[in-house]
Amino acid sequence: MLEELGLGPEWVRRDRPRSATDPAAGAASPMEGPPGIPLQSPAADLDARANEILNMDWTVLKACVAACTACPLAPTRTQTVFGVGDEAADWLFVGEGPGSEEDQRGEPFVGQAGRLLDNMLAAIGLKRGADVYIANVVKCRPPGNRNPVPLEAGRCRPFLQRQVDLIRPKLIVALGKVPATNLLGRDATLGSLRGQLHEYRGIPLIVTYHPAYLLRTLADKAKAWEDLCFARDTMTRLKTRSDA
Ligand code: URA
Repeated sequence: MLEELGLGPEWVRRDRPRSATDPAAGAASPMEGPPGIPLQSPAADLDARANEILNMDWTVLKACVAACTACPLAPTRTQTVFGVGDEAADWLFVGEGPGSEEDQRGEPFVGQAGRLLDNMLAAIGLKRGADVYIANVVKCRPPGNRNPVPLEAGRCRPFLQRQVDLIRPKLIVALGKVPATNLLGRDATLGSLRGQLHEYRGIPLIVTYHPAYLLRTLADKAKAWEDLCFARDTMTRLKTRSDA
């Protein structure tokens, strides 16, 4: 697909998305899933649940996320944080998971890191909600703002997959190592993933730093700016090709 857009092999690094039965999707636990989707037996039930989610429309998907109890994050959340923005956006930004403010307000990236993300968007002429959708790898807050563990990310994976399939963005920007490695299905350093065009479910994907990291590491803001310029230029190319 990327080749059809004129972004040939030299631009593309293909990464294989995991299936729900991938061990990295998380071992099954005896916890109950959403009604009708028990999670007692590992591969078959997880696959059935994933297939069901991958056929949901927005309304059912949102309700399913709001009611989800499929991983140990559910009991500690204030509310789920589904995602926000233009459901037909060309741009999809993906973070790790809600922090404390997001957990309270039910919207991704509304804390300090969110304000920086808004500034990053503005720097390339974008605005939250206007041709931009923002989502996270996990929809519930990991306690203490730790990274989501593989089981948590695995149980949430079909939700993000469905969001991607429904939005069909032209470009995905992974904000940090957690979304990058979860979406690409392999562990790698952020440095090794930057500056390349990857692919997730047939959609070009670019990796940059997480805004919270940039708040702590001002020296890397220049590199993030490079990544944003790369993303902006890639989007221009993608739009030019799809208009032709
Ligand atoms: N960090 C994230 O990765 N996502 C949020 O929604 C907020 C902070």
